[in-house]
Amino acid sequence: MNSNKLTFCTGVGTVTGANFLLETAGVDGKVGAKILVDCGMVQGERVAEEENSEAFSYDPASIDVLMVTHAHLDHVGRIPKLVKDGFKGVIYSTTQTRDLAELVLNDAVNILTMEAKQYGYEPLYTVEDVALVFPLWKTIEYHESFEITQNISVYLKDAGHILGSSMIEMSVKNPTGGEVEKILFTGDLGNSPAPLLRDTEAVGDVDYLVMESVYGDRNHETRDTRLEEFTNIINTTLARGGTLVIPAFSLDRSQVLLYELNNLVKDKKIPSVPVFFDSPMGEKATEVYRDSTELFNETAKKQIASGDDIFSFPHLTFVESQRESQGIDHIKGAKIILAGSGMSVGGRVIGHEQYFLGDPKSTVLLVGYQSIGSLGRELADGNKKVTIHNEKVVVKAQIATLYGYSAHKDGDHLVEFVATAGDGSGKGKLKKVFVVMGEPGASMHLAQRINDELGVKAMLPERLKVYELE
Ligand SMILES: [Zn+2]
Repeated sequence: MNSNKLTFCTGVGTVTGANFLLETAGVDGKVGAKILVDCGMVQGERVAEEENSEAFSYDPASIDVLMVTHAHLDHVGRIPKLVKDGFKGVIYSTTQTRDLAELVLNDAVNILTMEAKQYGYEPLYTVEDVALVFPLWKTIEYHESFEITQNISVYLKDAGHILGSSMIEMSVKNPTGGEVEKILFTGDLGNSPAPLLRDTEAVGDVDYLVMESVYGDRNHETRDTRLEEFTNIINTTLARGGTLVIPAFSLDRSQVLLYELNNLVKDKKIPSVPVFFDSPMGEKATEVYRDSTELFNETAKKQIASGDDIFSFPHLTFVESQRESQGIDHIKGAKIILAGSGMSVGGRVIGHEQYFLGDPKSTVLLVGYQSIGSLGRELADGNKKVTIHNEKVVVKAQIATLYGYSAHKDGDHLVEFVATAGDGSGKGKLKKVFVVMGEPGASMHLAQRINDELGVKAMLPERLKVYELE
């Protein structure tokens, strides 16, 4: 039968490495078009796992279009390799995703080069390879139906995950007749209501849903609890005269935390101590956020309109050089350090952790998903001895976790999201949900709940198996 086919190349059985291939039906049983959704890096102990250097499971030269949901490395990290290996098609995303991806890929290539030198292998790609990506990249707006190739149009909806993040609704016309088939790729789904961004939009009337499941088996604190707990953690650490170190993802999490700190200082809920934002990439990303406030939610927009510079407050320093970064560890007294990376894999936060993990007065606050093998995961799991830069460090600092600041929906909200399919009163024409981008336990738990609670068929696709969409 001449049907559309979906292959999950990577990004199943694991949270990272999103890379899905849609092959549409053509005339006379031939393939119509080949569309990729995301081309992300598999992440673990090192920024780049060996898996990333393997050949793609398809010929990159045969791909017509790459659609990008958002700028996180696990969704864009292998694009330079795709281009290097022969991709000559068009890349589409929102403007903000393109701009943030440029920051992310240029940052990644520095880390890749360092890792390659350290472990003695060829880097996955070079600065020159990254530069070849952007001439192929075109931007499209949210909420405009756009034809990417013959018989296929896309419509971008706000995923509410990070600035510019979109869910991609693909409408595929069968050239030999029949109904238009609609597939929605969620990318990552935001933890709405978010402090800065708009809420995730509804699923709508689609036939198939390909959805993330990072927190498929867990729930987060509520918005009020997370702010209360954040305030408590800050106040108890500062009262001890300690340093609060927060490993923060440069995209979104950093901007959200700066915004929350701005409000806490303004409302005098925490003392005004030195706050160091030690993330050159985070600083650049904050500029992209500042330039796109029209995409913020109404509350944040109103606050900006009232004259508040929401990413800035007294005693906040943006740390520039590496030397300056090392210098702040030696500043005496209570302080807050916000630094990348979010899972303590590379980035300046590792130096601060090396310095403060042995200090019982200090706290390391984990505010997001920590992948298996990362230093952040070791700390989250309660390991008392960790190795940083070949030095054994005994953990005496407090380790706190606050997943309410996660940029991902929790289990209950993922189920609630699926329930917005059709007109929201039922599943509409939704035939199947492919549950991806989660550790197996989380994905399985979510698929089970979708089956049981909503009566919608949900399953965990196998990697590299071809699924025919009837
Ligand atoms: Zn993401």
